[in-house]
Amino acid sequence: MNAILKPTPHTTLVSLRQLNKHYGDFTAVDNLSLEIQDGEFLTFLGSSGSGKSTTLSMLAGFETPSSGEIEVAGRSLVNVPPHKRDIGMVFQRYSLFPHMSVRDNIAFPLAIRKLPAAERDKRVNAMLKLVQLEAFAHRRPAQLSGGQQQRVAIARALVYEPRILLMDEPLGALDKKLREDLQDELRHLHRRLGITIVYVTHDQEEAMRLSQRIAIFSHGKVVGLGSGVELYQNPPNAFVASFLGNSNFLQATATGNAGAVFEGQPVSIRPQAQTGSQQPLLLMVRPEKALALSQAAAAATPLPPGWNEVAATVSEVLFLGESQTCSAVTAGGTALTVKALSASGMALTPGEAVRVRWAAGDACVYTEWAAADLKKG
Ligand code: ADP
Ligand code: MG
Repeated sequence: MNAILKPTPHTTLVSLRQLNKHYGDFTAVDNLSLEIQDGEFLTFLGSSGSGKSTTLSMLAGFETPSSGEIEVAGRSLVNVPPHKRDIGMVFQRYSLFPHMSVRDNIAFPLAIRKLPAAERDKRVNAMLKLVQLEAFAHRRPAQLSGGQQQRVAIARALVYEPRILLMDEPLGALDKKLREDLQDELRHLHRRLGITIVYVTHDQEEAMRLSQRIAIFSHGKVVGLGSGVELYQNPPNAFVASFLGNSNFLQATATGNAGAVFEGQPVSIRPQAQTGSQQPLLLMVRPEKALALSQAAAAATPLPPGWNEVAATVSEVLFLGESQTCSAVTAGGTALTVKALSASGMALTPGEAVRVRWAAGDACVYTEWAAADLKKG
């Protein structure tokens, strides 16, 4: 057997176990457990206040957990001070030393660790090359653009070769184009260096672009963990479905045997969905998996086996360049967003009766959810 073809087993580098952080009677991080793999790019994604930065700060050592355990490579970190954790950190505010040159900023962590000058210069030169700032080594931070300053901050965090790099919304202050360029750079940097990166953002597109895995945060908990594709295509719960991208939610009642009733009408559901008869169900269909047809088109196109169809009334049709969206409402008042329009779809007009179709296999089925999960954010 060819050893090269064997998948490398993932080894856990960081374990967060039943981590809690309370501020008075407020719980910022709530019994959070998470394993971070050696060498992965993991992103904490969640809305503001969901506990991302607090969790990262506990890992960095700037905050002390109220309870719980943090281990890196099997060793407890709880009583280890930040500078002894072998962890580099980059914040949204670059926090460079304004009076120092780029070179001295990058050299700073080595100077305080008292590395010999020759070794220090060698490493700083390598970092300047890595972040492509060799020509700017003698400038001061104020003489650099925001993106260049952030590259200095990244170089400074990497220069002492930490095993783990933590980044808290590092690109948040930059404009969109620059942010995307730096996202590409970061992805390449991660690939070249092979270090473990834990990244915090509230921007789902950024999380998708950068990460191998994403941990979705809500109210101090991780409520979804997986690759962007996994989380988008098969969200573990309605909150993640609604948080990541757009979703249609249809409230139905199970009838048993891969069936349900939606607004009085039978629909098929995934055969693998475990449901009891009469159980309330939530079906989730992504807009690009739902198809809208005019009455005439629906009459001319038989419903394929395993597909569902409901009647609705068009409320709006939007042309968005690379995609188009039809909003419609069912007789029972369920709002639907449809991105797969049939050839005649663009001719749909507000007020028109349409048929909305989806394949049963494309609808996720949830048996537990909260009303708040169905709202964005
Ligand atoms: P995020 O980074 O996801 O936006 P944070 O981890 O910064 O969220 O904060 C989580 C929650 O904890 C927020 O509601 C925040 O107000 C609260 N919090 C954070 N730090 C403190 C503090 N030092 N004192 C009191 N509450 C705090
Ligand atoms: Mg934060």
